[in-house]
Amino acid sequence: MERTLFDEDHELFRDIAREFDERTVSPHYAEWDRLHMMDRSVWTSAGEQGLLGLAVPEEFGGTGMPDYRFRMVLDEEFARSNHLAVALAFHLQDDLVLPHLLAHGSDDLKERWLPGMVSGEIVTSCAWTEPGAGSDLRGIRTRAVRDGDDWLITGQKVFIGNGISGDASLVLARTDGSSGRGSSDAFSLFMVGKGEGYSPGRQLDKMGLRASDTAELFFDDVRVPGADLVGEVGQGLRYSLEQLPQARLGIAVAATALARASYEQTVRYVSERSAFGERVLDFQNTRHVLADILTEIRVTEGFVDRAVLAFNAGSLTPVDAAQVKLWASERATSITDRCLQLHGGYGYILEYPVSQAFLAARLLTIFGGTSEIMRESIGRSIADQPTRRK
Ligand SMILES: Cc1cc2nc3c(=O)[nH]c(=O)nc-3n(C[C@H](O)[C@H](O)[C@H](O)COP(=O)(O)OP(=O)(O)OC[C@H]3O[C@@H](n4cnc5c(N)ncnc54)[C@H](O)[C@@H]3O)c2cc1C
Repeated sequence: MERTLFDEDHELFRDIAREFDERTVSPHYAEWDRLHMMDRSVWTSAGEQGLLGLAVPEEFGGTGMPDYRFRMVLDEEFARSNHLAVALAFHLQDDLVLPHLLAHGSDDLKERWLPGMVSGEIVTSCAWTEPGAGSDLRGIRTRAVRDGDDWLITGQKVFIGNGISGDASLVLARTDGSSGRGSSDAFSLFMVGKGEGYSPGRQLDKMGLRASDTAELFFDDVRVPGADLVGEVGQGLRYSLEQLPQARLGIAVAATALARASYEQTVRYVSERSAFGERVLDFQNTRHVLADILTEIRVTEGFVDRAVLAFNAGSLTPVDAAQVKLWASERATSITDRCLQLHGGYGYILEYPVSQAFLAARLLTIFGGTSEIMRESIGRSIADQPTRRK
């Protein structure tokens, strides 16, 4: 059974992505990993190669190519070479910030931000999570208060990818003056450019994906013009829910690509390593473990490929996307763990790709909504319509 998802255009795009990865990312990745920060030039080089902002319409500097299979090809290539930190940085901009601006940003916001996001001259982050609220976003405390035509934003965010390298952040803030757990219309989104009062805090020391920066962000009475509000006041949470399918799908795609890449690296390793006079691959246990892994990967690819086509057709629901994210990220965690075991002691050494993959995979069941929250979302849909065929 061959995978039939891609056509010639996707394969041509794959060649460009692979060359970009080999030429621009590979020579520097180890250094970025050490510094916890990739060079800004990776963004502009990606922009020059047409790898960013694929869905942006031509009038705002893009190519208007919303077909998600191109984003998928890019993730597969970064996973293949174990450069998933670059995929994560691009994911935050292209699967989170961008869809919100495309769906709800004014023409003025689009003109100011989108061309730079496509060229890579502008890097953005997405600031939802706070020290006291991650899964339960209604608990966030960052507030935006009107001051004439402007807003003043004050608060603290945490775990923000591209938080230090970014030039602007899409910030979720409370706009109804309430405290405690807010109602669904208590929050709004703002596109906030770096400036007075907006300062990145600590660079967080992550266990994996270290070549991408993740930070705290502080907003101290940051003055934001009314024109930087995204869409309407009070609609921020609704917009975020609306964009969940793409955010979750992006993580499922990366998880599947990572599992496949780890499997392939492991097959190469066990074919070359011997013990007791045999290749490790020739032990029955190894073959059985790999048989399970390959079968799980193919089932997962089938599910994720279908989800990508549903997303392209506009029919992927948040619950569908929760199922794909739950399944693919849990598989990636378990598969990279078993691949590591087949490497023996070398699996525990960071210079071996499998250990990096294991550490990268560990994020995927947490970030973008934990597995427990995915189960909540799926479980609620069952409870709401118990007799409907899912
Ligand atoms: C490396 C990294 C990068 C990130 N990047 C970003 C980013 O760019 N922007 C951003 O806004 N956020 C980002 N995040 C935040 C991420 O999305 C959150 O960490 C995640 O949503 C979980 O929130 P939390 O950490 O506050 O955990 P909590 O919400 O405190 O959860 C703690 C535990 O309780 C469980 N739990 C919570 N509620 C329930 C429930 N109702 N039922 C059962 N169990 C429950 C959770 O599943 C988890 O196991 C990033 C996180 C990391 C680690």
